[in-house]
Amino acid sequence: MTAYRAAQAFRSLAVLLVASVAACVQSAPGPDGPADLLVEVFDGSTMGTTYTVRVVSVEAWDEARREQTGFRIQTALDDVESAMSHYRPASEVSRFNEIQSTDPFPLSSPTFQVVRAALELAELTDGALDITVGPLVNAWGFGPIEPDVLPPDAAHLLRLRGRVGFRKLELDDATSTVRKTDPKLEWDLSSVAKGYGVDRVAEALMEEGSTRFMVEVGGEIVASGLNHLHQPWRIGIERPADGGGIQRVIPLSDRALATSGDYRNVREVEGRLVSHTIDPRTGRPVDHRLASVSVIADTCLMADGMATALQVLGPDDGYDLAIERGWAALFLIRDDGGAITARATPAFDQLAPSEPQLALQ
Ligand code: ADP
Ligand code: MG
Repeated sequence: MTAYRAAQAFRSLAVLLVASVAACVQSAPGPDGPADLLVEVFDGSTMGTTYTVRVVSVEAWDEARREQTGFRIQTALDDVESAMSHYRPASEVSRFNEIQSTDPFPLSSPTFQVVRAALELAELTDGALDITVGPLVNAWGFGPIEPDVLPPDAAHLLRLRGRVGFRKLELDDATSTVRKTDPKLEWDLSSVAKGYGVDRVAEALMEEGSTRFMVEVGGEIVASGLNHLHQPWRIGIERPADGGGIQRVIPLSDRALATSGDYRNVREVEGRLVSHTIDPRTGRPVDHRLASVSVIADTCLMADGMATALQVLGPDDGYDLAIERGWAALFLIRDDGGAITARATPAFDQLAPSEPQLALQ
């Protein structure tokens, strides 16, 4: 465990894994440049993290307009949280976990869509992303049910692993239901819910007629159109090393970017910091050199799930899978001394060229 990881874990203020460096509040291009544009900024809390939304506007919005948009953003996120949080006893996720029955369980259309995407990704990643990992997440102290002992003993882990497996879930499109074939199965949509929330906010802004905005929830991002400087939005990927800083600035427009890291959500178990990402193959938190992985995709739902899956697989198997699937991914790999090496897939370099001039402003 490096000093860096220890320091990160005990830092009182969470550092955004992906820092937006996209826009300040206002800009004033020169007299011959394009029209001056403004940026309306909205922020708040959701799903145990924070969000920021920036919308490019031609003129300052009045209070009524700001209130309406702020309300729509918060409502879109609240809807996702109340359906998909396993911390909310009345959510669809919690109720499905509660019932120990193999009967079909009706899902709202958003939850159905999220579960379907997660199961597709589970197939594509051979179960690296597995939303039935819930009991293991709890056993390691990252879920709503605090474990009696940490770390869980090997026999307990073996029993829990017997209850995990995405193939034990059956979705039925016609009836919009899900069924567990093992009554003890429990799920956890945390690996994809934030990304889906970002997509829902983007959708709400589009419905309002906005086309140029950036939505960020806990480091998962959608950028639409150009920023107020008439350029792609610029997103800084944090360098997870002593001293921090920005590893690379990503130009993003009409795409999503999600990042999974091994150091932000950690807890101490027997003097070691363990990550909240569980490898379903071992039932244990991941333990490798992949400090973070960022993925660019068309939707934030997919980018979020892909990033979690690659974080499970680690720097070598994850990279190989991203190459095989043609995914745009950037791996930040930590060496023994804590230094970071970046490794991007060709698809990532193509979508987000690493240009020296693309520095922070
Ligand atoms: P972050 O972006 O904050 O790093 P992720 O999107 O990677 O978070 O999701 C991590 C969460 O997903 C964990 O807190 C846990 O609830 C759940 N989880 C952990 N391991 C897996 C896994 N292998 N497959 C699916 N969900 C997982
Ligand atoms: Mg994720």
